[in-house]
Amino acid sequence: MINITFPDGSVREYESGVTGYEIAQSISPRLAAEVLAIAVKAKGDSSVGKGVTYDLLRPITFNASVNLLKWEDDDAKKVFWHSSSHLMAEALESLFPGVKFGIGPAIENGFYYDVDLNGNQITEADLPKIEKKMIELARSKERFDRIDVSKAEALKYFTEKGDQYKCELISELEDGTITYYRNGAFTDLCRGPHLMNTDVIKAVKLTAIAGAYWRGDEKRQQLTRIYGITFPKKSLLDEYVALMEEAKKRDHRKLGKEMELFTFSQRVGLGLPLWLPRGAVMRNILENFLRKKQSELGYLPVVTPHIGAKDLYVTSGHYAKYGKDSFQPIHTPQEGEEYMLKPMNCPHHCEIFRSSPHSYKDLPLRYAEFGTVYRYEQSGELHGLTRVRGFTQDDAHLFCRADQLQEEFEKVIDLILYVFKTLKMTDYMAQISLRDPNNKEKYIGSDENWAKAEQGIIDAAAKKGLKTVVEYGEAAFYGPKLDFMVKDAIGRRWQLGTIQVDYNLPERFQLEYTDADGSKKRPVMIHRAPFGSIERFTAVVLEHTAGHLPLWLAPDQVKVLPVSEKYADYAEKVCGLMKNSDIRASVDSRNETLGKRIREVAMLRVPMLVIVGEKEVADGTVSVRQEGVDKGTMTLDGFKEHFNAVLAEELS
Ligand SMILES: [Zn+2]
Ligand SMILES: [Zn+2]
Repeated sequence: MINITFPDGSVREYESGVTGYEIAQSISPRLAAEVLAIAVKAKGDSSVGKGVTYDLLRPITFNASVNLLKWEDDDAKKVFWHSSSHLMAEALESLFPGVKFGIGPAIENGFYYDVDLNGNQITEADLPKIEKKMIELARSKERFDRIDVSKAEALKYFTEKGDQYKCELISELEDGTITYYRNGAFTDLCRGPHLMNTDVIKAVKLTAIAGAYWRGDEKRQQLTRIYGITFPKKSLLDEYVALMEEAKKRDHRKLGKEMELFTFSQRVGLGLPLWLPRGAVMRNILENFLRKKQSELGYLPVVTPHIGAKDLYVTSGHYAKYGKDSFQPIHTPQEGEEYMLKPMNCPHHCEIFRSSPHSYKDLPLRYAEFGTVYRYEQSGELHGLTRVRGFTQDDAHLFCRADQLQEEFEKVIDLILYVFKTLKMTDYMAQISLRDPNNKEKYIGSDENWAKAEQGIIDAAAKKGLKTVVEYGEAAFYGPKLDFMVKDAIGRRWQLGTIQVDYNLPERFQLEYTDADGSKKRPVMIHRAPFGSIERFTAVVLEHTAGHLPLWLAPDQVKVLPVSEKYADYAEKVCGLMKNSDIRASVDSRNETLGKRIREVAMLRVPMLVIVGEKEVADGTVSVRQEGVDKGTMTLDGFKEHFNAVLAEELS
């Protein structure tokens, strides 16, 4: 008999070899119908985390803690979607004989499979046919069987099948560790885990076709990547499709064009955004918003160049990380002289710290810079403003003493929460990434410092009442960190706002301060960026608000529209008075119908419309529309009061 411990701490006895499915059945048939996989952690296993995800039919032969995973669990979704990629592969094999397979993982929303169609072409028009086949196969309730196989046997099978991709993968595996999974007529090299059978897959949507190089290598075969998503209920697919429709409307690339914020030019280069005047205004507002708050919090502005000598990044370790796969060094007429586009601002800031001696009383020092950095991303990875090759971080580096770490951390959390609040991002959680306690040698910095920093972060997060998850083993090798995940208006999660402790760079740059007893000490460094980058943040704000920016952030706050050209002079006068009160206003008195001009302003998503005609001129008033809602007629003073009240409310 073995002991199985449940998440609530209760323990039950089972025969050795019991399966997850039998355990679920022993609790309730309803649970057994809903459960998709089981997380298993052997008793005495001191590794961190939730354990290993097992197939429901895999025997458990040792005392263990378990967690029965349902659709709501991310790990169950992974199993569900990975199994769906096998189902799709089976459908493809029956529709396109001779097809060969690369890899087919689960991803954040669904799955894909990279396939070599053996000379066949498929287009979007073929997807419904594949979906239909998948549903047909799913309904036949095929079991996913896990089969141990020797390396020789596996190589023989896939060689005979003519699948050189699987053969290449197998050749890299160790004998004795190789498993197949088989569903129906389809056999795949796979370590699992998988669903018990296919019939829980009730709804299928294949979402896209793209090209993908085998193993991401541009010099190797181009495969076809087919993306899809599946659900255990048809209604969940309907919800997902509706969400995707809504997401399409909010796509920041579309909004950026309509609102005339930014553009890209092939001639300038891929992934290098060009900010149009309205976008640049919005960007300045974001920067100034943070600048003002940072100045209140004792940050000091610094400015550093866009390039740095290669040695700087060799010292910092960034060359090793970004060197080969990134932008290559810039050469000068001077033989052997090499510069790099900066991938990070930190090394420059370390040199600023080093430029003068510091006493313990000078700390913390907080250097802030809107620093533009350049990182080479593969062209296929580029996406609007969220994945670019040049971007501006709202960066700052805090140099402090170990005893100041927690307080500084708390202040940074406050700043990030202030940013979220002002942008009405009210649904967020924080992930605390700590060391893997069983693998301490992987990390730089003393045990004592790590313990202090980790506890400091945990305490700071608790003190601020953050909803947190703790992930062991997710810290960087140079220090623990805290990341914020924000849910946007339609429920999508974005990672924004990072705070990171660093013991590495102070060491590499030999940074020091003089302590009270006269001894030299290393400061601790905190990297932090509440926005992450201006580019990415702009994208998130646009998608979150669907382009309806808060008044304080809108590049054009007010558009004044005369009913006809006759009232253009009055419109100009009204606009001038608004500008005198620091309102970002402009007039559109073009010889177009009022309806057409209103539609164009709607495209630009200007929050406030002021319309003036005969009556307004006679009364010295304006007619106001705010976000499409008629606010009636106001005197100019009345309008300013209304305007300021809206601003005050937003920034309170
Ligand atoms: Zn698999
Ligand atoms: Zn940094």
